[in-house]
Amino acid sequence: MSQYRTFTAADAVAYAQEFGGLAHPASLVDAQEVGDGNLNLVFKIFDTAGISRIIVKQALPYVRCVGESWPLTLDRARLEAQTLVEHYQHSPQHTVQILHYDPELAVMVMEDLSSHRIWRGELISGVYYPQAATQLGEYLAQTLFHTSDFYLHPHEKKAQVARFINPEMCEITEDLFFNDPFIDHERNNYPAELEDQVVALRSDDNLKIAVAGLKHRFFTAAEALLHGDIHSGSIFVAEGSLKSIDAEFGYFGPIGFDIGTAIGNLLLNYCAQPGHFGPRDAAAHREQRLQDIRELWLTFAQRFEALARSETRDVALAYPGYANRFLQSVWKDAIGYCGTELIRRTVGMSHVADLETIEDHETRVACTRHAIELGSFLILIAGKIENVEQFIARVRQKG
Ligand code: ADP
Ligand code: MG
Ligand code: MG
Ligand code: MG
Repeated sequence: MSQYRTFTAADAVAYAQEFGGLAHPASLVDAQEVGDGNLNLVFKIFDTAGISRIIVKQALPYVRCVGESWPLTLDRARLEAQTLVEHYQHSPQHTVQILHYDPELAVMVMEDLSSHRIWRGELISGVYYPQAATQLGEYLAQTLFHTSDFYLHPHEKKAQVARFINPEMCEITEDLFFNDPFIDHERNNYPAELEDQVVALRSDDNLKIAVAGLKHRFFTAAEALLHGDIHSGSIFVAEGSLKSIDAEFGYFGPIGFDIGTAIGNLLLNYCAQPGHFGPRDAAAHREQRLQDIRELWLTFAQRFEALARSETRDVALAYPGYANRFLQSVWKDAIGYCGTELIRRTVGMSHVADLETIEDHETRVACTRHAIELGSFLILIAGKIENVEQFIARVRQKG
């Protein structure tokens, strides 16, 4: 057992030498802290040739971007590592490989993905990865199906739910997604020009009832082991390759939450396009995002249904037609959670670079307004959108 201490670069090198699984660990000589994140320390460990070989990630006992005034559980490192190890078992192609973790030190050693790039940055630059959406759909189907009651023995499922109890990280989601943007809260962060729109959200009874329903399902629906934070900044891409990272919000929750978070970030990029490109390119990139959403959902649903046909172990859940019925409810959840992602990333505390890097103030405000409008619209009509083509038509309808 190792007592917690915050790693220095030298600690990270020594740790990578011991646990990185390299044939010549002494070749690891240098570390650089690269965490752009809001929460944790991330070290790249370099060899004598200056090539990055291994990643060491450590949780701090507080929220990094806020400081020691906002303490946060170190247990999230265990939950992140366990979630990624579990997901790797079901989708090794699309999950970062965890090589070692230590719950006392709140540290993990993982595969270096420096050959890849964070998807969000590529989406903002207009670099298209035509296979990424399909691969993300495949990742979500494999990981969510194989951790659900369709696949796990009921005893094993309940033991897994207990192993992934993650109350402090869930509370962050519960507050930032479902509370703050719909009340007057000091954590909220939006341009003064949008005050009218935000006040309208706070006084919309139907919207608040729909959001309460989404939060209630987030509290109670232990459908599968979610990634819990699968936005485009938690996804590395390269040509023909996609890998998920950063699963510290992992817990057993409603499947539609992961799907909705992923779709929501594609829509945030859709809304941001006029801030980065002229009309023709912006329109072309928007079509790509809609195509991404179509491929993501259809791949997820087709793969999940195929797995349900061939691998469901529970007799009742295996009944023909049930998986399809279940996926209809996942779809409706996903639209609602997608709407809450749009709102919490614009009205709430934590924003996305897609919108924040728009230089022209007026354009940024207009794109943000569009995202809020689209988000509240989707939450309100989630139950009435039957399929992904209707969804795309509704998005187009909002401009
Ligand atoms: P946080 O939980 O603080 O958000 P992340 O896991 O998202 O931390 O990592 C922050 C950044 O560190 C990533 O955006 C990426 O630039 C870098 N990073 C994280 N994991 C890896 C990896 N396996 N390979 C290469 N770079 C990584
Ligand atoms: Mg991150
Ligand atoms: Mg982060
Ligand atoms: Mg994180």
